[in-house]
Amino acid sequence: MLFLLSSSSTSPLLSLCRKIPLKTLTTKTLSHLHSTMSINLKTHAFAGNPLRSTTPKPESLFSPSSAFETLKSRLLENALLPSSPIFKVLPFRKGRPLATSTRPTGDSPPIWHLGWFNLGDFKGFLANSEFQLTENSLVYLGSRSEDDVVYWGIDVSEDSSLVPQFGAKHFCFVELRTLMVATDWTDEQAMSDLAIAGHARALLEWHNISRFCGHCGEKTVPMEAGRRKQCSNALCKKRIYPRVDPVVIMLVIDRENDRALLSRQSRFVPRMWSCLAGFIEVSILVGFRIVSSLLEILVK
Ligand SMILES: [Zn+2]
Repeated sequence: MLFLLSSSSTSPLLSLCRKIPLKTLTTKTLSHLHSTMSINLKTHAFAGNPLRSTTPKPESLFSPSSAFETLKSRLLENALLPSSPIFKVLPFRKGRPLATSTRPTGDSPPIWHLGWFNLGDFKGFLANSEFQLTENSLVYLGSRSEDDVVYWGIDVSEDSSLVPQFGAKHFCFVELRTLMVATDWTDEQAMSDLAIAGHARALLEWHNISRFCGHCGEKTVPMEAGRRKQCSNALCKKRIYPRVDPVVIMLVIDRENDRALLSRQSRFVPRMWSCLAGFIEVSILVGFRIVSSLLEILVK
């Protein structure tokens, strides 16, 4: 069986919140990891987002369009606002989600949590910054109607004044892979949070690299609570949807010698290894389909 050796004698994530360069902290964090964690994942670490991002009823309070209208009202600070649903915001900075950690009693390793804030609390942070919060700043991540919550992501990379504010509350921006290594992979709640953070990062990154229309070159604007973008040129109005890049990851096993083939890149943090993985060329996908079709014909 394959094992990852990880974990720590000191608080990994709390140490990340100290005033030490993140790269150093990441290295330090991982070098302190010393518990043993079996790899027994049913899905990819960042897959399995439990939030629902679609709803068949647009009039539902939790649908993207309805939640977006409520969001705009709340940003205008109207006095008479419905208390439901609750809005939670997860800030990101340079692709890193905000996180914090708590240490259970005894010698148990610390547990990290994503830095979710209620919309009102988040606006309090922004009051002491130069960040201009608009309805277009937030992207809809999904909802949990059973919890009466709609979740939003926001990229605050352009405002560094928020970092010390969050730091004072023991929050810091942490690389997703660091969170992945610090997560107990048998903890379903933690794995769900990891999947939400992965989804949010991908969506925010797509917004960041899709600022201009590939057809006419005009600026794009977010639509449908950030679930898609559209060209601002009235003569173009091209619709742009988040990219889905086909990727593959595999574990090569030497059964006779009970070994597995792993690899690492120079940018990896110490002791981090990976299965073989990469993007799939479209031509290869087409090739797979052709081969599959031929095999089906031959079998028949
Ligand atoms: Zn255009």
